Amino acid sequence: TIYNLGSINLDHLYQVDHFVRPGETMASQNYQCLLGGKGANQSVALAKAGADVKHVGAIHHSDQAVLDQLTELGVDTQLIARLEVPTGHAIIQLNKAAENAIILYQGANHALTEAQVDGVLAQANDGDWVLLQNETNLIEYTMEQAQAHGVKVAFNPAPMDAELTKKVLPWVDLLIVNEVEAMDLLGVSDVESASKMLPNAYPDLSVLMTLGKAGVRYFPKQQAGVSVESLFVEAFSVEAVDTTAAGDTFIGYCLSSLMNDEDMTLALRRACAASALCVTKMGAASAIPSRAEVTEFLAK
Ligand code: ADP
Repeated sequence: TIYNLGSINLDHLYQVDHFVRPGETMASQNYQCLLGGKGANQSVALAKAGADVKHVGAIHHSDQAVLDQLTELGVDTQLIARLEVPTGHAIIQLNKAAENAIILYQGANHALTEAQVDGVLAQANDGDWVLLQNETNLIEYTMEQAQAHGVKVAFNPAPMDAELTKKVLPWVDLLIVNEVEAMDLLGVSDVESASKMLPNAYPDLSVLMTLGKAGVRYFPKQQAGVSVESLFVEAFSVEAVDTTAAGDTFIGYCLSSLMNDEDMTLALRRACAASALCVTKMGAASAIPSRAEVTEFLAK
């Protein structure tokens, strides 16, 4: 089982001619409300990849539809708390130049309690994983407790908070960052330096660095006295229309394979294929491909 302690957001999306100005009231011709949040997206990707995923999070008690949608996509929602706090949400304006302006309200995503985390870890077994991003509270607490329970920790520090990330790395088994997050974490301003520094900076954990349309690099944990080679897998060449949730799709598919002890190169290839399919579609959770679609794409 993988316990994903992560955000659940409702993304309210408005297509507008221009961003609303001070004092202006503007009508929007177009409105969509979509399930989002890195946490929820990664749970959906895990479920689509075939993993046994239990989402750990919180929403407002009136938002049953959110739970129904996650359940329909294959995510176990039993461990999602229903609180008297608004569900996390984003008000997103999309203008004609495809730029966005976003107001984010963390709401219930930052109202997780230690008792909730304790309850989750009490039911975890050897071989289970905890996955976290940086869109909820209790990150340090959860990792510390996970390690005490012998549960492995995967961490995708997005959005990046370098100070917090450095502090929690001792509890992390697998760190997953994109290029910008890697640069921010290491305090450098170019990708080349970041990917050179990354394996030496964190030899005690395994690191995945996704490289956008270039692909992905994997730096395995160094074992005493043995030098372990890094892996590089190229991305698939596709017509990208919306890269939202590419990273989330990658993480879900890759972790699902790792939990099945799949060969790492195969795991990375499958995850690259899944995220390549994701960028060919608009949207977040709805753009994440099924395992059958990924298998068919790989067979081409
Ligand atoms: P994030 O979405 O977190 O910024 P990346 O941009 O690094 O993460 O993308 C994650 C993965 O998605 C990459 O490793 C790659 O396999 C795939 N990917 C992203 N953009 C493209 C693209 N334009 N074409 C093909 N694959 C892509």
